[in-house]
Amino acid sequence: MDPASPPTALAAAKVRMRELAVHYGAGLPGRDTHSLMEGLDGITLTFMPMGDRDGAYDPEHRVILINSQVRPERQRFTLAHEISHALLLGDDDLLSDLHDEYEGDRLEQVIETLCNVGAAALLMPPELLDEVLERFGPTGRALAELARRADVSATSALYALAEQTSAPVIYAVCAVTRQDDADGEGPAKGLTVRASSAAPGVKYSLSIGTPVPADHPAAVSLDTRLPLSEDSYVPFRSGRRMPAWVDAFPERQRVMVSFGLPAGRAATDVANSASPQGD
Ligand SMILES: [Zn+2]
Repeated sequence: MDPASPPTALAAAKVRMRELAVHYGAGLPGRDTHSLMEGLDGITLTFMPMGDRDGAYDPEHRVILINSQVRPERQRFTLAHEISHALLLGDDDLLSDLHDEYEGDRLEQVIETLCNVGAAALLMPPELLDEVLERFGPTGRALAELARRADVSATSALYALAEQTSAPVIYAVCAVTRQDDADGEGPAKGLTVRASSAAPGVKYSLSIGTPVPADHPAAVSLDTRLPLSEDSYVPFRSGRRMPAWVDAFPERQRVMVSFGLPAGRAATDVANSASPQGD
């Protein structure tokens, strides 16, 4: 935790941002690009090449710009992120709380985090998360279903699903590392963790780049193209293997994985998670 910023202030701001996004989303006819814009009175949407930037919201000219050269699911998350900027700017109370609490770069950083929180809540409303979790449980399959139904990247789905999961579960998106990613020492090609996030209260996390052994159910599932659900382990980078119920769901070149930890083992190590995508 960052000692300079009380977690309570950020947590409260996230709750408020989520409310804003959920409320906004509830008034929309759908979640397609056109529908997403419908609640923003007088704000226009423009797609254009934007180099390294994903998008922007220009409150002065009341226009949202989206980089037309990135993949569609990323454009979609960016649109929801920029809409969240507009929603945030429309909430004077939240805005003044943030300005009281933060300044400079830290303020910018907090606003970007909040807009990612808003984007996730807009594209993956609580009822969708609950429905997916109820139907599939906290599994790799649920992760794949959520990404498909919400039309978001697996990584975006992973963070939202983890946050909503009450069981002690770690989720991961794994993919085969290409030859040019290998650093010479390790195997030239192998399955690695691309993104990972755990349910609240779970202190373990898999770091990006953690190799998944070829005989692990996640690797077998990807090889055979068959979903697998079995007693196995979490392959921590240190080499340590923690017993876990593994559910692996292959999809294209990736495999969505959940690791169900035994009760009581969930809360005793150092967290090590990554940040969500989006600018
Ligand atoms: Zn932003």
